[in-house]
Amino acid sequence: MNNLFFLNVLDKLNEGIIILNKDLEICMWNGYLESFTGKIKEEVIGKKIYDVSPLLKNNMYIDIFKNALKNGESRFCSGVLHKAFIPSKNKDINKELRQSMQVNIIEYNKNIYILIQIMNVTSQYERVKKLKSYIKKLDYTKKELEESEKRYKILFEKVKQFAYYDSLTGLPNRKLFMETLNRTILEKNKFSVIFLDMDKFKNINDTYGHDIGDKFLIQVSKRLKNVITKDDMVARLGGDEFVILQLNIDSKLDCVKVAQKITKVLDKPINVGNITLYTSASIGVAIYPDDGQDKNILLKNADTAMYKAKELEKNKFKFFNNSMYKSISYKTKIENDIRRALKNNEFEIYYQPQIDIFTKKIVGLEALLRWNNPFLGIIFPDDFISVAEESGLIIPIGEWTIKNCCMQMKKWIDKGYFLNSVAINVSAIQLEQSNFEMIIKNALKKTGVPPYLLEIEITERKVMKRLEESISLLKRLKKMGIKIALDDFGTGCSSLSYLKKLPINTLKLDKSFMDKISKGSNEEAILDGVILLAHKMKIDVVIEGVESEEQFDIIKNKKCDKVQGYLFGKPVPAYEIEEKLSRKSIKNDNTM
Ligand code: C2E
Ligand code: CA
Ligand code: CA
Repeated sequence: MNNLFFLNVLDKLNEGIIILNKDLEICMWNGYLESFTGKIKEEVIGKKIYDVSPLLKNNMYIDIFKNALKNGESRFCSGVLHKAFIPSKNKDINKELRQSMQVNIIEYNKNIYILIQIMNVTSQYERVKKLKSYIKKLDYTKKELEESEKRYKILFEKVKQFAYYDSLTGLPNRKLFMETLNRTILEKNKFSVIFLDMDKFKNINDTYGHDIGDKFLIQVSKRLKNVITKDDMVARLGGDEFVILQLNIDSKLDCVKVAQKITKVLDKPINVGNITLYTSASIGVAIYPDDGQDKNILLKNADTAMYKAKELEKNKFKFFNNSMYKSISYKTKIENDIRRALKNNEFEIYYQPQIDIFTKKIVGLEALLRWNNPFLGIIFPDDFISVAEESGLIIPIGEWTIKNCCMQMKKWIDKGYFLNSVAINVSAIQLEQSNFEMIIKNALKKTGVPPYLLEIEITERKVMKRLEESISLLKRLKKMGIKIALDDFGTGCSSLSYLKKLPINTLKLDKSFMDKISKGSNEEAILDGVILLAHKMKIDVVIEGVESEEQFDIIKNKKCDKVQGYLFGKPVPAYEIEEKLSRKSIKNDNTM
């Protein structure tokens, strides 16, 4: 059975069928929906599902789809779905109709799709009846099938188009480029990867707006297309980054020639409406097999060479060589990468449970940042937070974290989980920003998350530097109901007297305590003292970094309030921690 036949069958079913890709774009919209909603395929294919059914925005359905993608789980929902889902063109039907929806995950050509089945039925019994009726209907004339096959061929091309091509410029996208690169490597011939980044594109966007920026990129891509031969490929990786796959090269000279051509075509000003834009590109080249034999390494090395070329004044063009890694200041490279990561949404928040020491139930979460780097995999905060702090990039990162964490909390609240508190780590540099309070307030207001669910963790060492300024801000936050935790207590110049000055609710004892603790040790005595004192000051104590049963044995009878550590759970993505929360809420456990 070929794909077109399969699509034909789906098209003829007596119920609604929608197929979405990972970006929730519609790849398939069957005949039933056309007649039911009045929206035809040509109108909806390629659009986001929530743009076709705007009520779906901010709705639990998006969650259902995303969870389905993440966990591969099927879902069945029933109810008066049509309100959010597929309104009929016939208003009377809308009043009475109940729809049920089955969400399934299908895999095709190694890609994952969501298949949504929509049935206008009220009972399981009717579902079965419907099933029988549409099996009967599969009896089509040859002409009918040929006609819809023709239509599907055109649509298939369109689906391919938006899975593999950049919607703005029409150039191949990252995905198609990487797949082609992979195939090219298998042929084992010499070729080059030419990485291009437009200089000062951000200025154009900031000065003239995204509309002009988009038109500028379209013109750039046209020029680049003219530079390459028909065997080569130019793709847009995203933003202002392009990449060329140059085949059949004999020597580096062939790459130099292309780079010179690129420089020349981009040297001519670009006119968008009556605006004249001057541009240039920084170009980096990596050659197979010398500079890498893996697609990711080749692209990364070409990117590194490009980055090095950016430092040049003129003729911004460089071949990759290994010494670049040493000479490029690591910090500037990370800074550049962080900027890109923010643009491409590469950050993700993981959550680590905080456990009640007696009941062993989850009584809080700590939000910990992860960077899903497309080249290097997951990067942990210790490897980028300090650079982000030094460069000031911690401000946009921090803002992103606060917003997204609140959005996630709101989702959990809406789903009925009983949240206790979610702690976000905040850098001292964020506290020094005059708009920090506004950022928090806005995030809470926009999501409707009550302030008492939010805890912010500050680090003793850093806050101490600007103690007075920080104290008044922290006091205002605390007054709003937000909880304040003092993190990593015991690492810096810990002084218990600070506890009196800082308006804190929680003290987090650093992991180094746990590392050194043994029965009867000094650490145990200090621990006892700190807990006693903190409680006298009405401050809760959290012990961090509990990794083993032995450690837990020592602390389990201490009156600390919460424990956190690998023994109880590592930081995991939101959907994974949610499973732990949901199991608890099913048991009607109200602790979380
Ligand atoms: P932290 O606030 O002290 O967070 C606890 C760190 O210890 C986390 O590392 C966590 O994964 C790790 N951890 C927890 N339990 C155990 C355990 O039992 N054993 C061991 N060996 N480690 C454990 P992570 O996620 O790598 O974070 C490192 C630091 O990065 C954090 O230390 C925090 O200071 C900073 N950070 C993380 N996310 C953010 C953020 O969104 N903003 C800011 N400004 N800093 C962040
Ligand atoms: Ca922390
Ligand atoms: Ca800590």
